[in-house]
Order: sequence, then C-alpha cells, then structure tokens
Amino acid sequence: MISRIWLVVLLVLNFSAIGQTKKKVCFSIDDLPVVSYGEKSPEFHFDLTEKLLHNLSSKKVQAIGFVNEGKLFDKDEELISFQKECLQKWIEAGMDLGNHTLNHKDYNTTAFEEYAEEILIGEQVTKQLLSKKSKELKYFRHPFLHTGYTKELSDSLDSFLSKHGYIVSPVTIDNSDYLFAKAYHLSIRKGDNVMAKKIAKDYLVYMEEKLLYFERQSFELFNRNINQILLIHASLLNAEYVDDLADIYIKHGYTFVSMDEILEDPVYKTPITKFGKYGISWIDRWALSAGKKGDFFKDDPVTPQYIQNF
Ligand SMILES: [Zn+2]
Repeated sequence: MISRIWLVVLLVLNFSAIGQTKKKVCFSIDDLPVVSYGEKSPEFHFDLTEKLLHNLSSKKVQAIGFVNEGKLFDKDEELISFQKECLQKWIEAGMDLGNHTLNHKDYNTTAFEEYAEEILIGEQVTKQLLSKKSKELKYFRHPFLHTGYTKELSDSLDSFLSKHGYIVSPVTIDNSDYLFAKAYHLSIRKGDNVMAKKIAKDYLVYMEEKLLYFERQSFELFNRNINQILLIHASLLNAEYVDDLADIYIKHGYTFVSMDEILEDPVYKTPITKFGKYGISWIDRWALSAGKKGDFFKDDPVTPQYIQNF
C-alpha cells in the first residue's frame, strides 16, 4: 500500500508534470488596423477594434497585430487620424505590434529593392507609437507568407530584416480565416443574420480541426507539440468570435503567450532548405525540407464549398 506521504509526493509530481506540459500558442492578427471590405467610417473601425481587443483581453490573450501602414494614409498621403487611433488602442490594451509592409506587397512579384522600401516606409507610425510605451518594433510578418521562392531571395530578405533589427514571425497554424471573414462580413452587410451565425459556427468547427491537424503534424515531425503560432486577420468575424476561438484553445490545454515566449522553442531554429512560391505553415516548410511527401500533408481540413462560393 502506498503511504500517505508518497501519495502526496506523487500528486505534487503529477501536478508539476501537467504544469510543464502546458501547451503554448501566440495569437497573431494580420492586416491592421482592420480588414474593412470597403467600410470607411471611423465608427466601423473603432467598433471592430474595440470588440476584438475586448474579446482577446477577456480570455487573457496576449496578441500581436501586424500593421499595413498604407491603410493609415489617404490618397493625398495625409494621415487618417482614426486609423492611427485604432493602433493606439492596441498598445493601450497591452498588445504588441509588428510590421506587415506598407501596402501588403507580395515578395513573389515585387523586386527586392521595392519590397525593402515597403518595409522601411511602413514602420514609421508603428515605431513611434510603440516607443511612447518604451517598446520596440521588432517583428516582421511576410504578406501572403511569401518569404522568397528561392534560397537567394529568402536569404537576402532575411539579412535585410536582421540588419534592420527585425525578427521574422513564422506561422504554424495557417488557415483560410479570411474566406470565412469575407462571407461573414457580406452576410452581416446584407442583414442575413441567420447565414452569419451559420458561418461563425462552421468557422469555429473548421478552426478546431485546423488546430488538431497541425498538432498531429507537429507530433509526426518532431514527436511533440511545438509552441504554436496562429494566424488570423483583424476582421469583423474575428472581432466577434475570437473569445470563442480562444475557448477552443483553452479546451485543448493551451495558454496564451507573447511572440517572444513562443520563439524560445528551439524548433524555430530548424533550417528551411526547400523554397517555393507557396504561403504555408512553417511546419510544412520544415516537413518539405526534411523530404516529407504527399502523405504527410493529407487530411488538411478544407474550407466548405459554400464559403468559397461567396
Ligand atoms: Zn496580410
């Protein structure tokens, strides 16, 4: 029979083991200030931003938002003050911000010099806002996750970024949230709340399937669940449902941490040696680099056809 003291020791060990295996995720949110689908009013922008930040904070999610500063300026290159105020709200809510280029340029189709300029011109307002809180702008997210389709293109961008003090922010849980977001936005605009509810419900099911898929891929490649980085966009859909999305991660044992903490996982030093025009999860890049073929990528959850048809 196990003595009472041993029982206590075993319980403590067991609890600390659970503590150590706590899964970690960073929520990264692209295309700030907001994905507007042509909505121009300050109210729409403020409302979306406030909802998104409120719902993130209610679940204690420390998110990082990636900014397209081109959205902060009108066609005469005048600053649109409410757009800047939206970014300010992110900082006031304790979130981090990163650079996502000025105008969401595609590195697959943009010359290196022009792309580099887009990074530097696109950092000025964000840098200034962060510095007021004694924070640095240090993370970069490639639009479309296009990182350079040859080793040369990828290397030259990497060295440019590190020369300018940037750290690349990878994505492991890649998905098509933007397709659901567009369908949701259009349904709300039409006043079709029944359809909007259905889209949101299907979105959450799809996002849970995506999480489980990338967890399985992580185990297949590394025999463990790596620190995960989720990519979603600053859309109305996420503003209204990011707390439900966070609940899915909580249900699967995740805690929400910063990009700094996520990148402490040595997995992020895994070399990438295969390049292509694709915009895919870093898990898939590592898998391709390790010589994985078709079978490894099977069972990737698909976006429902009716969402794709919107
Ligand atoms: Zn983007």
